[in-house]
Amino acid sequence: MTVRMADMSWPDYEAKIKNGAVVMLPVGSIEQHSYHLPLGVDRYLPAAVAEEAAQTLNAVVAEPIVYGARSQMRMGGGQTYPGTTSLRPDTLMAVLRDVLTAFVDHGAKKIAIVNGHYENMMFTYEAADLALREAKILGIDDVAIMRFEYWDYMTKETIAALFPDGYPGMELEHAALIETSLMLHYRPALVDMARLPQEAPGDFPTYDLFPATRAGVPPSGALSPPNRATAEYGARIAADCVAGIRRDIAAVFG
Ligand SMILES: [Zn+2]
Repeated sequence: MTVRMADMSWPDYEAKIKNGAVVMLPVGSIEQHSYHLPLGVDRYLPAAVAEEAAQTLNAVVAEPIVYGARSQMRMGGGQTYPGTTSLRPDTLMAVLRDVLTAFVDHGAKKIAIVNGHYENMMFTYEAADLALREAKILGIDDVAIMRFEYWDYMTKETIAALFPDGYPGMELEHAALIETSLMLHYRPALVDMARLPQEAPGDFPTYDLFPATRAGVPPSGALSPPNRATAEYGARIAADCVAGIRRDIAAVFG
């Protein structure tokens, strides 16, 4: 049986919720990901990891929030690239709060937000808090929401194996080794390895400056070189993420 909410009938969904299923909500973005990756990387990857993790959990994976928070230059290359399509903070907060509140209305007691876009981090944090405050006002006080970034489940061993010269941090990993490897694993038809950029990494000052420009962003929009990416690395990263998410959801929600 499917784990995808959008592929379920409402009685099947209702039965899952009544049976205590965790509702997993991937939150992504539509954002430039260099020459070799599609705009939807941050929309595809958290959903792929969540759907795989859900196979052995009592869980439903909701349709992702496809659009995300405004791309920042030092994390995603910024808004100046065609295709990068973002929500302003109040819109994103409203969408997240409405969707989380709907799950609560459906009777969900266990919700997990699976973030796949760096800039969404604090907005998902705030939305979880607001949705629970709203539930409490309505007299519902037995709902729990966990949230995480899927890439934080990469193990130390995997990071050491992938980055023998040191890990630059996920904010510089935009369209780079991790995301390219994961896309080669989950969605290889959407990766064009013939178009890998040949560039130095991004080089940014400590401050942000507006109006935003592409200063410091490598021309392709990848913030670190993706050149060593392989499907095997992608499988290893995915296995870490799926195992970690399963372990923590089981630990938190039983
Ligand atoms: Zn990304």
